[in-house]
Amino acid sequence: MRGWTIPVVTALALLAGWGVAAPLSNAAPRPSIQHKLPARPLIALTFDDLPAHGPLPQGGDRLVIGKTIIAALAAHHAPAFGFMNASFGAGDPNAPKVLAAWRAAGLPIGNHTFGHVNLDTVGADAFLADVARNEPALSAVAGGADWHWFRYPFLVEGQSDTVREAVRAGLRDRGYRIAAVTMSFGDYAWNDAFARCTAHHDEPAIAALETSYLAAARTQAQRSRDLAQAALGHDIPYVLLMHLGAFDARMLPRLLNLYEQMGFGFTTLPAAEADPFYRAARDLTIPGPTATLEAAARAKNLPIPANAPVPAASVCA
Ligand SMILES: [Zn+2]
Repeated sequence: MRGWTIPVVTALALLAGWGVAAPLSNAAPRPSIQHKLPARPLIALTFDDLPAHGPLPQGGDRLVIGKTIIAALAAHHAPAFGFMNASFGAGDPNAPKVLAAWRAAGLPIGNHTFGHVNLDTVGADAFLADVARNEPALSAVAGGADWHWFRYPFLVEGQSDTVREAVRAGLRDRGYRIAAVTMSFGDYAWNDAFARCTAHHDEPAIAALETSYLAAARTQAQRSRDLAQAALGHDIPYVLLMHLGAFDARMLPRLLNLYEQMGFGFTTLPAAEADPFYRAARDLTIPGPTATLEAAARAKNLPIPANAPVPAASVCA
């Protein structure tokens, strides 16, 4: 319903208040339009596993990967949020420089746990301990910026209500909001395949990866819109999950062009999650899990479209 009701409210507000000549001080308070619908669908870009995601291809350099991604974001005036695992990049002298470059570009950073632990494997207590273990390094990198955003590794939020709510309570106590995911195309799988194909100097296979990466991104972006339209009746600001990997760096200029050609604009994670759809991600007093478009569709007995395929482990194996 929201897609229809808000424009009507906007029109009424214009008629009631903004169009009359009475001094503003005497006018009745305007209805607040908290969630003005954008003219075009929006994506908030998020990059996980900073400062080092996936295998480093032969001849690769983590700092070049990071700087290439930062430059593409800047060229498209696209905000992005990074999620850090302080144990990643250990022993790579470039890892701290990647984080420094990210922050120097004004890009915010949040918590993705210290060791990228799986909640289903380690349990709530060890999981929350790993969240806390990441904080000293994260807070140092963030400087004065707000780092209290959390992305679950593997998007695993717990199988039982008990575990899930224990972790939500722990995250709430530490002041976090959850970075939801409402758009993803499995970009990590291309980083793995790219490293293997680079080792084999298989240029035709790399060209095929470029094609399939953009095709999957297009399919999944449309899939998110289709799910939102079917389940909610309107677009939401989408939160895209990506990773700070070598192939993502190679493809990001073309990926951002693609999204723009599809009519998307870019927004920040906090702005996207101001949308009511993300209420349970912002307010951890509400029972989880974090809303997904798939769950919204399932709740209405709508079919869930298949995901676009990702490169098989056999590619360049
Ligand atoms: Zn991750």
